[in-house]
Amino acid sequence: MKKFDPATSLEESAHLSQGQMVNPPITDSATYAFESGEDMSATFQGEKEAFLYSRHWNPTNLELSKALAAMEGTEMAWVTGSGMAAITSTILQICKSGDHIVTSMTAYGGTFAFMKNWLPQFGIEVDFVDITNLQAVEAAMKQNTKMIYTETMTNPLLQISDVPELSTLTRQKGVKLVVDNTFTPMIFSPAQLGADVVVYSMTKFVNGKNDATAGAICASEEFINALIDVQTGTAMLLGPVLDPLRASGIHKNLFTLPIRMQKHSENAMYLAKKLKEAGLRVIYPGLPENPGYEVMKRTMNTQYGFGGMVAIDLETAEKASRFMSAMQNNGVGYLAVSLGYFRTLFSNSGTSTSSEIPEHLQEKMGLSKGLVRFSVGLDQDIQNTFTKIQKSLKEMGHRHETV
Ligand code: PLP
Repeated sequence: MKKFDPATSLEESAHLSQGQMVNPPITDSATYAFESGEDMSATFQGEKEAFLYSRHWNPTNLELSKALAAMEGTEMAWVTGSGMAAITSTILQICKSGDHIVTSMTAYGGTFAFMKNWLPQFGIEVDFVDITNLQAVEAAMKQNTKMIYTETMTNPLLQISDVPELSTLTRQKGVKLVVDNTFTPMIFSPAQLGADVVVYSMTKFVNGKNDATAGAICASEEFINALIDVQTGTAMLLGPVLDPLRASGIHKNLFTLPIRMQKHSENAMYLAKKLKEAGLRVIYPGLPENPGYEVMKRTMNTQYGFGGMVAIDLETAEKASRFMSAMQNNGVGYLAVSLGYFRTLFSNSGTSTSSEIPEHLQEKMGLSKGLVRFSVGLDQDIQNTFTKIQKSLKEMGHRHETV
């Protein structure tokens, strides 16, 4: 059987719209007229398919959703106004009061805070484990476990989840595997590896322009239909739908994602090697000594590289801060949170995107106070970028013979 390629599948989803438009039209309507009262009633009863209201479906979101489903190889997708909206809707669709979740100790701070602080208020219990330790994952599962939740490449420590192994476990136990693939679109196809639901913050690489927040849920037709059921669907009732104007922009950006990911990965690999040569402690799953390297090699779509995220450990938040200011002044990129932008972005995770995680837990998960996370940009001259990083290291007082 031919191996699934997300980019080819995405390309094949592109089609001419009515009137030979190369891009789908933007439908700027919150509501839709019916031919008759009977039609309206039948649509609300789920007996007829039609657009009824944009919080449920609208034609522009449907086009983007079809493209995302093609990219993931899932039956369907649904798009939301942020990554957190995709994550929270998915979790609340699967779990109810009295249920239990096993998740990764290292995850995006917002997801961590939702699981740690918000879900327990509604009777949903969560255990946080080292997701790369399959025995620990299995040991944490209980009678009432409904879901294993992880990120393919975790934020910010860049641990790699073994999705096929996790999926063997969830299938044995009859529970759902939900995977956030925000850091590694194209690079991993989690649904092909056994995930039941793949969620995205499209704010990041998928859109790649930092002009919108958006999210996506890619899953079976059954799951998406349940999610937007007018009577019981979490997304329909909580209302986190993406605006169609944004959906249209993201849809167009999606088609450059394969080449963007290749370039992000190429640049990140270059910097990871150079930073290592400069004597720094570098976290990059594309370096053979990284604990996630073998799992990644076995499960990735190799043509897109090891991803655009690199982290280095400068030990203290104070050093990290001086280094980041120097890098911004020297034109390396921007001292900003978020990722997947065409320019390099850097942040000190412990004091920003992971600040929701209490200090003692940051320590337990191995998150150093001096961790600087890079989202490496699409720089044409990455050697020159490294020269600017070297200059910044010197300015902040880092000493090494090769710097
Ligand atoms: N998932 C990951 C891995 C993230 O890094 C983020 C945000 O940084 C999110 C989800 C949340 O996405 P959004 O900010 O679009 O709500």
